Amino acid sequence: MCAPEPGPKRALMKIKDAAGRHIDYARISVTDRCNYRCLYCMPESGVESMPHSGVLRYEEIIWLAGVLVSMGIRHIRFTGGEPLVRKGMPEFLVSFRREFPDLEISLTTNASLLEEAAPSIALAGLSGLNISLDTLDAVKFSSITRRGDISSVLSGISAVLGCKIGRIKTNTVVMRGFNDDELPALLNFAWERGIIPRMIEFMPLSENLWGRDKFMPSREMLEKTSRLGDWEPVLSAPDPSHGPARYWRDVRTGRIFGVIEAVSNHFCSACNRLRITASGRMRACLFNKEEISLIGMIRERDREAVVSAVTSGINLKPGRWRDLNGGSGDMSVIGG
Ligand code: SAM
Ligand code: SF4
Repeated sequence: MCAPEPGPKRALMKIKDAAGRHIDYARISVTDRCNYRCLYCMPESGVESMPHSGVLRYEEIIWLAGVLVSMGIRHIRFTGGEPLVRKGMPEFLVSFRREFPDLEISLTTNASLLEEAAPSIALAGLSGLNISLDTLDAVKFSSITRRGDISSVLSGISAVLGCKIGRIKTNTVVMRGFNDDELPALLNFAWERGIIPRMIEFMPLSENLWGRDKFMPSREMLEKTSRLGDWEPVLSAPDPSHGPARYWRDVRTGRIFGVIEAVSNHFCSACNRLRITASGRMRACLFNKEEISLIGMIRERDREAVVSAVTSGINLKPGRWRDLNGGSGDMSVIGG
């Protein structure tokens, strides 16, 4: 498996979109499949899976990443669906690190299979690991995920705590009436383990899953957690690739937490990312359905075509997201 050689000028390239934003972060989905069916992400029946033949192979992901890096991408996050359900994913992370020793590489996972993947994840020297954790209650956990067992997630978290991983964060999608009563407990759980907790506003990606009654704005989340500390805004985020979260620090203890407020406070002006779905479709904005298929060009190893398609795709990135008309698709398919 080999990444392409960078072209003469490409190593210095920086990609900017039409709004002048510097794009240096790619989220690559390795699968649309998942062992959970979280209420906010997937319908109970799941989503129709892509045929295996239409999913980018590991060597194709490495080749594509080489092209993206030569265009100025500095951080690649692997996501899904659930990335660890894909066979060979832990070993792939190790090979990927070997190909890109200086790249910021991170993973988003539901942690259900993290315990056995932990040794490879440590070997891969991940820069960051984001773990979804919406509740600490076993019964609620299985009803939010519609099938999950929280004990596997907790063992997964314990297994990676001892590993050399850059930053570990928890992601909690806050849904009114489901887990909003647990925010202080979830924050304390993370802080006790040296993890940075983040609370995420429930985004209206699929009209069938989202509901105004379940949506909780960040303002209310902050009210619920205000008593845990004496909070001041963190101006330089702990995440060098400037993720979308706004961070807060307790002036007394130094503890921090993040809030991702994609609905009530758009972070579009700071958006630095592009997304590649498991089937090799590029999407410049989570909330914009327009996608460009790269898989044919990737399979032909046509670097010029990929560079040109990615550049045009980036120019499709809207300055800010518009109100959705019927949702923009399930997060598990787009790649969260
Ligand atoms: N399966 C992995 C996981 O759950 O972490 C990775 C994929 S998941 C689609 C990535 C992230 O998207 C998770 O943190 C999840 O909580 C978030 N997510 C999914 N649907 C969402 C929605 N409607 N609103 C906000 N966040 C969402
Ligand atoms: Fe699966 Fe992650 Fe979506 Fe939950 S949020 S259904 S774990 S892809």
